[in-house]
Amino acid sequence: MEYSLDYARKLDQQDPLKSYRDQFLFPQHQGQNVVYFTGNSLGLQPKRSAAYIQEVMDDWSRHAVEGHFYADKPWWDYHERLAEPLAKVVGAKPEEVTVMNTLTVNLHLLLVSFYRPEGKRTKILCEEKAFPSDQYMLQSQLRWHGLKPEDHLIEVKKREGEHHWHTEDFVEAIEEHADELALVFIGGLNYYNGQVFDMKTITAAGHKAGAFVGWDLAHAAGNVELSLHDWGADFAAWCSYKYMNSGPGNASGAFVHQRHLNKKDIPRLEGWWGTKKETRFMMTPEFDPIPTADAWQLSNPPVLSVAPYLASLAMFDEVGMPKLIAKQKSLVAFLEFVLKTVDEKVESRFEIITPKEARGSQLSVFLHGEGRSLFDYLMKNGVIVDWREPNVIRLAPAPFYNSHEDIFRFSEILYAGIQQQVLI
Ligand SMILES: *Cc1c(COP(=O)(O)O)cnc(C)c1O
Repeated sequence: MEYSLDYARKLDQQDPLKSYRDQFLFPQHQGQNVVYFTGNSLGLQPKRSAAYIQEVMDDWSRHAVEGHFYADKPWWDYHERLAEPLAKVVGAKPEEVTVMNTLTVNLHLLLVSFYRPEGKRTKILCEEKAFPSDQYMLQSQLRWHGLKPEDHLIEVKKREGEHHWHTEDFVEAIEEHADELALVFIGGLNYYNGQVFDMKTITAAGHKAGAFVGWDLAHAAGNVELSLHDWGADFAAWCSYKYMNSGPGNASGAFVHQRHLNKKDIPRLEGWWGTKKETRFMMTPEFDPIPTADAWQLSNPPVLSVAPYLASLAMFDEVGMPKLIAKQKSLVAFLEFVLKTVDEKVESRFEIITPKEARGSQLSVFLHGEGRSLFDYLMKNGVIVDWREPNVIRLAPAPFYNSHEDIFRFSEILYAGIQQQVLI
């Protein structure tokens, strides 16, 4: 690799996905696109999503209530259109995938089905310092069952002085607690250090111990290769507004493995959109679950929020995860290279804490010394990154819309910022 703008541009010219950058709307800074590295927090807006929303607005004005059945894309089963393209993104069968609610809501609903403390088997195993919403969700589930989080939550820690987890530490902790584990629940890609967990191995270990295994894929969906069906995970959920570019706070995706489908006796909170369509409008008191993950649906779909998710999935379907991941690897390798180049020039002021062999789009950079002012400098100069206490900047170039040139521009601004001694 070469540290030059020409080299970055050469990589961009060879990029088979280069035409997609133009299909997104970038915030502007001094007349040009910002360098946007926060697709792990909120993906940019695809130009086509407005048309999908407008279509629903038009159908609403034209058909009103009859839009449920007579809109171009009828609303009553609008969400079903997402299952097939979404299943490809997460490595599932279409019947295992549904779109509903928002992420934390879905996790609570799924834990109703998959966290069933009984006898000695009451504990939940997760990673230490899980995403705060997941921590609150797990603690409140435990308390809801009358259990104390201090006694029933097992957190797998990083080793002393290290920034990442070891798979064998998860496996050992699962084996150690095998007869008291009810659930293994982990964020598949850690939001802080950017590490992708070995979901296949950990799922197998959890099952061997007799526990259910579920994944929060907020940072993994649309980012890394997933094979939820083959790995055999019991359930998973993710939001759609990070790498999946569906818009702020939008509908969440959920996965329930085939082996749990088409069951009437599974504990589940139920609503009218989970019962079979053929008999739904007979308004009978008996719930007859749809034989897919849609059985977990409660309400009729929030079409205006699902519409831009459908727009985004059309793009994922056109390109496919293998091509996105190939571009991601090129971007992230170049980002790593320019970071190391700058770090050498400034005599080691920071380090990348994301493990090289287990990463997706995100690199987390740990700054030695006062880093907050460097973050402020980047933001003031048109580089949108994010800051995590105590001293981490997260950089997540997204393969749909970021370029190698973005990465080079970022590195020059970073270097200038450090040279102005903002990192002391
Ligand atoms: C972003 C994120 C969430 C957000 O949850 P919402 O319910 O969509 O607000 C939850 N968990 C993880 C791991 C996340 O990264």
